[in-house]
Amino acid sequence: MNLIMANLSTTAKITWCPGCPNSAILVAFRQTIEELVKAGEIKLENVVVCAGIGCHGKITDYVNLNSFTSLHGRALPAMTGMKCANRKLMVVGFSGDGDSFAEGIGHLVHAARRNSDIKVFIHVNQVFALTTGQATPLSPKGYKSKSTPFGSIEEPFTPLPMLLESGATFLARSYANDIANTKKIMLEAIRHKGFAFVEIIQPCITFFDTRDYFKDRLEAVPDNFPAQDINAAREFLSKATTKTPVGIFYNVVKPTYEDELWA
Ligand code: SF4
Repeated sequence: MNLIMANLSTTAKITWCPGCPNSAILVAFRQTIEELVKAGEIKLENVVVCAGIGCHGKITDYVNLNSFTSLHGRALPAMTGMKCANRKLMVVGFSGDGDSFAEGIGHLVHAARRNSDIKVFIHVNQVFALTTGQATPLSPKGYKSKSTPFGSIEEPFTPLPMLLESGATFLARSYANDIANTKKIMLEAIRHKGFAFVEIIQPCITFFDTRDYFKDRLEAVPDNFPAQDINAAREFLSKATTKTPVGIFYNVVKPTYEDELWA
């Protein structure tokens, strides 16, 4: 292991279920930070990693970086505050779909609207995994769990179109077990100046194993996709399809909240 990777590791025992794709996200993130440090694009001391509550939240224990674990769904206000106070910081947040789209949805929408210069990586497993698999706003209709024993009667919603209309300037999706592609997208998200939102499909292999479901559904965004065109992103993300596109859907530069604030 090289020096940067060794410095990024901690002695904390990994308590995710064996084989959980959260570990793949951790690997992709460590590799991303390593590459950015090697390229001289960031300094380790300027990176802050935040998390909410959920299985994803353990990631702050497993990277040897400045970190902050928030209340449930509240990582984003803390992240925005950090970036406002010190624009040198590279503020990255991890959250789950329960944490973000149930408890934290208001914070997410407003951080996107402000184009706060923070990066948000969402572990999407469509359940509250840490508390044994209850339904989240992304669970499919009919999903059975302890909180929905007869099947969920609610329709799930799709976050990416909502984030696009809220004002996010970088939107992407990856699949956790595709570490190389997740790393590639993380690199672009971190390099982006403004609010970057990445949905990482992360099947919960213990409570809602969707690996087979996604096996033949993932489809890369075409290479020539015009990610600077909001209408193209709007049309692409709202298109009814049996496939799940992965890649970068939207990427534009606009003034950030923090730059406006300090100006
Ligand atoms: Fe991963 Fe699910 Fe286990 Fe949590 S409960 S560590 S999301 S497999």
